[in-house]
Amino acid sequence: MRGADKAAPDLLLTGGIVLHPDGDLDNPQVESILVRDGRIAALGFEADQQAQAGGIASVDLTGKLVTPGFVNAHYHSHDVLLRGSFEGLPLDVWSLYAAPQQYARRSSREVYLRTLVGALECLTSGITTVQDMVAVVNADREHCDAIVNAYADSGIRVAVGIQAADLSPVEAAYGWRSHLPEADVQRLDIAPDIARTRQLIEELLAGDTGPRLDWVLAPSAPQRCSEDMLGWVADLSRRYDAQVFTHVYEAKIQALLAREKYGRDEGSYIRHLDRVGLLGPRLTIAHGVWITASEVAAMGAAGANVALNPTSNLKLRNGVAPIRSYLDSGVGVAIGCDNCSGNDAQNIFESMKLFALFSGLQSAAGVTGAAKAAFRSATLGGARALGRGQSSGALRPGFSADMVVLDLNDPAFVPRNSIVNQLVYGATPRSVDQVFVAGEMVVSGGRPAQSGLSGLLSEVEAAAALLRRDLSEVAARNGSLAECCLRIHKQGETSPFELDRFHLLG
Ligand SMILES: [Zn+2]
Repeated sequence: MRGADKAAPDLLLTGGIVLHPDGDLDNPQVESILVRDGRIAALGFEADQQAQAGGIASVDLTGKLVTPGFVNAHYHSHDVLLRGSFEGLPLDVWSLYAAPQQYARRSSREVYLRTLVGALECLTSGITTVQDMVAVVNADREHCDAIVNAYADSGIRVAVGIQAADLSPVEAAYGWRSHLPEADVQRLDIAPDIARTRQLIEELLAGDTGPRLDWVLAPSAPQRCSEDMLGWVADLSRRYDAQVFTHVYEAKIQALLAREKYGRDEGSYIRHLDRVGLLGPRLTIAHGVWITASEVAAMGAAGANVALNPTSNLKLRNGVAPIRSYLDSGVGVAIGCDNCSGNDAQNIFESMKLFALFSGLQSAAGVTGAAKAAFRSATLGGARALGRGQSSGALRPGFSADMVVLDLNDPAFVPRNSIVNQLVYGATPRSVDQVFVAGEMVVSGGRPAQSGLSGLLSEVEAAAALLRRDLSEVAARNGSLAECCLRIHKQGETSPFELDRFHLLG
């Protein structure tokens, strides 16, 4: 059951240029927006009339651009305090240092602070909704509460999925059984017991949610989960109409593993997800880099979604997803920023720009429509991936009043030639002036309106110092394993495979 949102005052926004994802994106027009009870009540002349009759206060947005709030469709809040710590590490090596399971228990205050810092970074980048696939180690209730409280304090809208897996890392990682020293295989080939995590997830799905928080499902990746677990996820998804988020085909060595592991499913994660009952409109795969054309077609036919993360795919050495192919195949396409220590920023502008550049390269030279596709994917596409396509991602009557107000006097928009091209190729979070979630102003003048970080900085730095100390222990413990994973990665980079996602033209 969903709790009621706190009532934001009704507002008439006037004088702003309004960018509709399905409207004229090059040359949008000035339009009034009436916000009532946290939703968009009317647009244009109708909005002016209703506001006048109801005596509703107006806010002048002359010289501003109003867009739907952006959706960050793939993110993990658990390593926010590690931002900037790593460079040059491929995915499998980086995760040995960044995964929360590697660390001693964190304080609940640290979990609160890291969640809040990440949420405020999202908001000041114009992101009004985020999908957080978060590790809650040992199903820690206090940590869960800290996450919920931080999001409520930030004001952002969020779909939280507790990341879970029940197979041993040796079984789930390419090459570990054959390349690791026997002693390491013995030590690591232990399946995690996730009984408490399953119980926690079921209780959260069955319980009340906050007005801006949805609980969703987040099996970490198909190769890390048993069929029994994926069947349980599919059953919960149907019972609670809950979205499912999972990592698929992020790295080349994961594709090599699929061919080895899933003979019954033609060596395909997508066919495996289909067989266990997960391939459908409630599913969003994160990354989808090393995927074949026929698998993309199967996703499109099933109405499934992909959350593309072009920045982290480059930084963690995974290549470039076939963006054009997804856009042409009816797959719901969304954009994410991924981890703070694997990107290292929750900057949706940067992600939109890379998305447009890569999808443009993958299209025939000439008119590609890449900037328009990037903007639609960061708004409507993200809302669809989060199961909110009928209530957010656009500025329409009845939709949530989740909006970004950008300053058109920012040099990125001067002079105005094509709003969408300048938004995607030129703008940065510097242009973000105000952000509204459910009609509540949560960013004002580019800064968080209520719960800023200035009073928390020393506390955040103290928590980060403890984390850095523990990171050096984690690094020392995992040093030889990391060297072995690096060798496996390098061998995988040059192994023959039917696709080459390191090749930029897709
Ligand atoms: Zn991820």
